[in-house]
Amino acid sequence: MLQDTFGRRFYYLRLSVTDVCNFSCSYCLPDGYQGRPDEAFLSPDELVKAARGFAAMGTQKIRLTGGEPSLRSDLPEIIERIHTIEGIQTVAVTTNGYKLPQRIKRWADAGLTQINVSIDSLDPIEFKHITGHDRLPEILDGITEAKALGLTVKVNSVLMKDVNDDMTSVLHWLRTNPVTLRFIEVMETSDQEVFFRQHHISGGTIKSRLLADGWQPVLRKVADGPAQEFWHPAFAGRIGLIMPYSKDFCATCNRLRISSLGKLHLCLFAEQGIDLRPLLQPDVPLSAMIDAVTRHLGAKKAGHDLFSHASGAMANLSQIGG
Ligand code: SAM
Ligand code: SF4
Repeated sequence: MLQDTFGRRFYYLRLSVTDVCNFSCSYCLPDGYQGRPDEAFLSPDELVKAARGFAAMGTQKIRLTGGEPSLRSDLPEIIERIHTIEGIQTVAVTTNGYKLPQRIKRWADAGLTQINVSIDSLDPIEFKHITGHDRLPEILDGITEAKALGLTVKVNSVLMKDVNDDMTSVLHWLRTNPVTLRFIEVMETSDQEVFFRQHHISGGTIKSRLLADGWQPVLRKVADGPAQEFWHPAFAGRIGLIMPYSKDFCATCNRLRISSLGKLHLCLFAEQGIDLRPLLQPDVPLSAMIDAVTRHLGAKKAGHDLFSHASGAMANLSQIGG
């Protein structure tokens, strides 16, 4: 089992399949994707080899992310091949929900078990303002469809002061909708320092409100993501809080990342990725990748340095995969 020098075990891999995105979220790519859309992102064979190596090291859960993973036409093939790897119990996709109703059945048939959809506002006008796309009804339909297909559905909302920190519409929605909505504290990236200063608000404020209103913490499982989740008997849905600026956030870190170009990132905010791509080629034994990952894991630090505004190699989250 992969374990670092601080005793943390890594059950969870986030595998980015592309940097490209068609949305222009105000905290991520406000001017839209500016990179090279024709860049050679990892092929299905390379992604599967990476996933096989991590499964052999004890990884149980793989999340496909980006950029926008649904922009890859071979996403169903990638899901299908990863889903059949021995030891992988959960295959998840994080998506902006673009054309979700048309796509979700194919992904479910391929073996997808969980989907995380980003919705920063349940108000269509605000949603368009944040993302640049008037697609909220379509995305909500996609979520209904995903639930009907038996998938675990979670919604990600980046928590932004004076934008969506009034929870009235969220609470109304969760009364009858059995999904988990997770507020993610906005993280500072080198592209978005001003936005961060204007809109960052601690998830602790929301947590205090939830506890005061009778919400109760849910116990974590080993391959769970970083959210602290809460349930309430009067609500069908749950609320999660992802608070990277909270004390001890990194102590429960159980995940590693591989970028769409094959760099291993020990932390979202680590300086450099470690190039695994040469080791993902057909003529290289899987053991070479496993050795490299095990060796480099020793360099994983106890925590990120976001408090001193050091965002490492991260210009925006579409680069490495949020
Ligand atoms: N395009 C997909 C999506 O939006 O769901 C997947 C990639 S996106 C980078 C993954 C997650 O990171 C999304 O939930 C997004 O809201 C979140 N995210 C992006 N930039 C962020 C930031 N600066 N701080 C916190 N979360 C961020
Ligand atoms: Fe695209 Fe996701 Fe970034 Fe929004 S958060 S711009 S959907 S990568």
